[in-house]
Amino acid sequence: MTTHRNPRAVVVGAGIAGLATALRLYQAGWEALVVERAPERRSGGYAVTFAGLGYDAAERMGVLPELARRHIVPDRMDYVRPDGRTRFTVPGPTVRAMVGDRSLNILRGDIEDVLYAAVTGAASGTVEVRFGASVTEVRQDPDGVDVTLSDGTVERADLLVGADGLHSAVRRLVFGPEDDVRLDLNHMAGVFELDRLPDGVEPGVTASLTDTGRTLAVVSVGAQRAVAFFGYRTQRPSAELADGPHVALARAYGDMGWVAPQVLGQLAGAGSVYFDTVSQMVVGGWSRDRVVLLGDAAWCVTLFAGYGSSLAVAGADALGAALERHPADVALALREWEAQIRPEAERKQRLGRQVKGLYAPADPFRLWVRDLPLRLASYRPVSALLQRRLQLTS
Ligand SMILES: Cc1cc2nc3c(=O)[nH]c(=O)nc-3n(C[C@H](O)[C@H](O)[C@H](O)COP(=O)(O)OP(=O)(O)OC[C@H]3O[C@@H](n4cnc5c(N)ncnc54)[C@H](O)[C@@H]3O)c2cc1C
Repeated sequence: MTTHRNPRAVVVGAGIAGLATALRLYQAGWEALVVERAPERRSGGYAVTFAGLGYDAAERMGVLPELARRHIVPDRMDYVRPDGRTRFTVPGPTVRAMVGDRSLNILRGDIEDVLYAAVTGAASGTVEVRFGASVTEVRQDPDGVDVTLSDGTVERADLLVGADGLHSAVRRLVFGPEDDVRLDLNHMAGVFELDRLPDGVEPGVTASLTDTGRTLAVVSVGAQRAVAFFGYRTQRPSAELADGPHVALARAYGDMGWVAPQVLGQLAGAGSVYFDTVSQMVVGGWSRDRVVLLGDAAWCVTLFAGYGSSLAVAGADALGAALERHPADVALALREWEAQIRPEAERKQRLGRQVKGLYAPADPFRLWVRDLPLRLASYRPVSALLQRRLQLTS
């Protein structure tokens, strides 16, 4: 143990995993320094389903009421044709019934906002968030870890948490090259916030078009905000990534029709664009002595599993609980933590690999099969049944 009064962690990354970890470590009596590469907080992002273990963990950590306030229920979901005509519609109450009652539909940035407010509120005395800094070197000894940051400082800690996402620097520095652990699922995802709703998409509506091997969705969040989402198949994900979103998305969606030209037109002026390969991380063990990976840096189940945010919060909660059980034995705490989280992470990774073919189906028949449950849900009797079920359970 170091000479600090409280145990201390350096957490790299101020995404969902990093902020949830800082909050939970604070609740376990730890001090934390969160190091974020970006110069300031990001916001918005894409809409995620937040449920399962993460939902339960958020409840225990006391942030569920704030998250629930940011829950988005679309007025309806429109599935359209390339000429803009509606193929079928799922009404909002049916969407809610399908999602279930212990589940949120929420922007990724809104989850981060809630966690950031908690970390800089009650925890502000013991948690520091430092923007515009990254990690450049990690040295461990039996009593602790020295983390050299890009701002020139060296931070001594009892634990280093790599919560720095898919392309984690902590993982590269301590566990080895990304290429050794990255499993590409041969899809790309792109997201950015729209300045204005494209003509033809109504406020409050989520509208999407899927044709052969590609999906474009416009998610309108209330009257003020809207997000464009692109997901498409490719056999050359690294090359697409190297081309960047402006070239790659124009090439993949230039001939799509519907609102694609309007959305691509807004891409040039977009402030921040998420664009990445859809890849899983298959890392043999998530800790090396006093360094642990958490969130997408460790497991990245991908958007196909629809569970990365939830697992990040659940992982943070479980880590804090393990350190509470074993305050003097970090190695034992990390072993117990991994044994608890790994089965769920691997289950969700398997699910992600199984359903990847459904995301942007390669041919019209597979698209028809994928849409069948949604089409059924759009019929009035099925929709009424689902809505009754929701009323019974809430
Ligand atoms: C389109 C899409 C849809 C999704 N849908 C769902 C869903 O429905 N349900 C769900 O639960 N999950 C979903 N996910 C997954 C979920 O968003 C992620 O699993 C989750 O946000 C991962 O959080 P993270 O904190 O581990 O990583 P990230 O969000 O990648 O955060 C990492 C942070 O670390 C910072 N960073 C990176 N490198 C460094 C460095 N060297 N030094 C310092 N800081 C650094 C980054 O700037 C960032 O702030 C979806 C993902 C995508 C892309």
